[in-house]
Amino acid sequence: MLALFVCEQTGKMIICVFTLMMSAIFPLYAQEEEYYPFYSSDSTKLRELAVAQQASLKNHFVVPRNMSPDYRESYNTIIKKSAEESYRRVLSSALLDTIVDPYIQSVYRVIVRANSDLPDTKLILTRSAVENAYALADGTVFFNIGLLAKLENESQIAFIICHELAHIKLSHMERSIKESLDAFYSKEFKKQYRQTAKVEYNRHAKMGALLQGLSLGNLQHRRSFEKQADSLGFVFLSRTKYSTAEAYTALQALDKIDAPYSSQKLDLGALFSCSDFSYSFEEGQAKESSIFDVRETMVAFPDNPDTLRTHPDCLKRMGYIRELERAFPVEANRQTYQTSALESIKLLCRREVVQSLYETQNYDYALFNALLLLREQPESGYLKSMVMLCLYELKRHLLLHRFAEVVSVESEHHPENFQHLLRVLYNLNTSDFEGIGNCFAQKMRIEEGTHEYQLAAQYAFAVLREDTEVAEQIKKTYLDRHKEGRFRETLFSASLK
Ligand SMILES: [Zn+2]
Repeated sequence: MLALFVCEQTGKMIICVFTLMMSAIFPLYAQEEEYYPFYSSDSTKLRELAVAQQASLKNHFVVPRNMSPDYRESYNTIIKKSAEESYRRVLSSALLDTIVDPYIQSVYRVIVRANSDLPDTKLILTRSAVENAYALADGTVFFNIGLLAKLENESQIAFIICHELAHIKLSHMERSIKESLDAFYSKEFKKQYRQTAKVEYNRHAKMGALLQGLSLGNLQHRRSFEKQADSLGFVFLSRTKYSTAEAYTALQALDKIDAPYSSQKLDLGALFSCSDFSYSFEEGQAKESSIFDVRETMVAFPDNPDTLRTHPDCLKRMGYIRELERAFPVEANRQTYQTSALESIKLLCRREVVQSLYETQNYDYALFNALLLLREQPESGYLKSMVMLCLYELKRHLLLHRFAEVVSVESEHHPENFQHLLRVLYNLNTSDFEGIGNCFAQKMRIEEGTHEYQLAAQYAFAVLREDTEVAEQIKKTYLDRHKEGRFRETLFSASLK
């Protein structure tokens, strides 16, 4: 199964190299050819990969013998749930495109070839915007595109992969599960549990704390595993062509990974205000923020067994990497591999991030990231379409009284430029969207056309200005021309009211 996977990726690699060669030979052609996030209406490959992933994780574990039936049942439940979760993860977010996936697979292969003592492993690129990577016991490394978009060079990417491969080599997931269950079924814990259960005052919180101490995310536990993975990951990296000096800078990058791509304030007036609709985007007043910022937590850490950026541990981990560098001095001739090809790939990743945020209904983050990128690529038809689509969804959710579900609560933890956008969004009325959409269409010269995204954006714009007749015509054109289109289900099955 692994051989098949690698072979498949090799096939894609050829396409990738060919694409890069073509852009080098025909730069003008490359500029005209716009990149749209990957989409395939045929989910066969994804389903196959998801099924294989679920089976691989399930088959990897052997339930320990000589344990109580309860212990064995809990063990089975954990494995089953992890396998189901990884099935869902692959099906909903694995990215099997022809440029970014072959690229990261090539980095991964360099590492695997240089480290013959690794068990069978594989890497799955995901469309998640969350800046993270993590490893599962069966040898699967998940690498989120949100992280790829923010790392500075290929050596940093390689270090992150090495760190995850080290978790696999050191059986950290298996050990976490076993140690947690051992503790949970220990006599000592049962005694503590009974005592806590008898306590009248604040019993709930005390129980919670007791169980928390056992959880797989136990902090002490995680710290020691992270240190081990950094250490062995560093050794894996040192055997490749990549620069081990970038292990340190990768952790530095992780330490500030929450920062947006730019801290510059968005000039919303320049995009959304015009002579037909004059609106001051500077007067937005801060609303009261809530400490129960549930969506914020969801976006930051939706799931996952291994959080790379365990604040404030990055600084400690950087200190430890310095020690390793003394033990294994950096070879001066090693390159970081900060190439122009990687810079282009990172820009594609940022488009995938916008798309992923949009599809997971994080319209505030999607709009924010689209606007940041639009400053660098003002002619992008893709980004203009995404801004219009975000405006459409924001208005739709405002009308449905479901705005708070798709727009984050203001919080001092947000970067100032994102916070400013949130203030503006919360101050908008449904009647403002038409004017904003109009100004944006005029200023950004949104062109009509029959490309899938153009039609989707035109439809969104027609609905924003409540022109139902035109909206219906565009919808019909879209459904006629794009029978397998990505917006068929999402955009055209939802109604405005
Ligand atoms: Zn880790």
